[in-house]
Amino acid sequence: MKAVVVKGNKQGYEVRDIPDPKPERGEVVVQIRRAALCYRDLLQLQGFYPRMKYPVILGHEMVGEVTEVGEGVTQFARGNRVISLLYAPDGTCHYCKQGEEAYCHSRLGYSEELDGFFAEQAKVKVTSLIKVPDGASDEGAVMVPCVTGMVYRGLRRANLREGETVLVTGASGGVGIHALQVAKAMGARVIGVTTSEEKASVVGKYADRVIVGSKFSEEARKEDINVVIDTVGTPTFDESLRSLWMGGRIVQIGNVDPTQSYQLRLGYTILKDIAIIGHASATRRDAEGALRLTAEGKINPVIAGTISIEEIDKGYEILKDKHKVGKVVMRP
Ligand SMILES: [Zn+2]
Ligand SMILES: [Zn+2]
Repeated sequence: MKAVVVKGNKQGYEVRDIPDPKPERGEVVVQIRRAALCYRDLLQLQGFYPRMKYPVILGHEMVGEVTEVGEGVTQFARGNRVISLLYAPDGTCHYCKQGEEAYCHSRLGYSEELDGFFAEQAKVKVTSLIKVPDGASDEGAVMVPCVTGMVYRGLRRANLREGETVLVTGASGGVGIHALQVAKAMGARVIGVTTSEEKASVVGKYADRVIVGSKFSEEARKEDINVVIDTVGTPTFDESLRSLWMGGRIVQIGNVDPTQSYQLRLGYTILKDIAIIGHASATRRDAEGALRLTAEGKINPVIAGTISIEEIDKGYEILKDKHKVGKVVMRP
């Protein structure tokens, strides 16, 4: 089969022909229907993910169809349409039993310790597999593990209450445009921040209000902002913090430049009762929640472009193209 393989640390990727995967105990083989490109891939290629084994197949977001079932697999059968969490937990420790499998000590990451999904087929552990309901499209499902399910959990961790106002930075990005929809589907009023006048109209389709510009906090504070989902990082963090009303929570998802740091004035967060929630992944419960909202038509995938495995370079060009809105999807 064809796959996008990363040879070694900071050595880039190449499209290669490699042997088809075979399922071991507790695993299935999935024919990939859609995979999705992610900003994290670029950080991985720059060497910011120390747990990567090499060579490794890149890509950590997919929806596919089970084609082969390994020994001991009873919950999944050939023909099931499935997604995978970004990591495989052991399923047995106390975190896993509490439904907090993101904290599992033995978790293994796809495209890190395990091969990822930019391939025609992938080997997936059942502890990370989730069935996709019929009402959810492949495009809607592929966004769940790293985007909509992840945001769903972030808002759950932020204790979002119905009627609260959520501001999303980087609102035209692959995460941002869907974060607006998840927050809205969970009962929030939503504000989208974008730096481009050109993309404000697209953001406006999903947001109750749009703010254009990098200095957005003053405009934002015209109403009480209860939660910020920051999908950018150090370039927006200060304005995000300043946007919040008392008791506000910031769900920090983006980190575009991991070499940058931010100097926090503690008094500001103390006197305003601010909570900073660093946030990365979804659990099974959150993925199922986001899949349900997707199947109900409350979250609609926004696609910036669809590419084949061979067009991976073009895919990353679309991902970095400031004029494009939404997620880049791979159809192997
Ligand atoms: Zn991702
Ligand atoms: Zn565990």
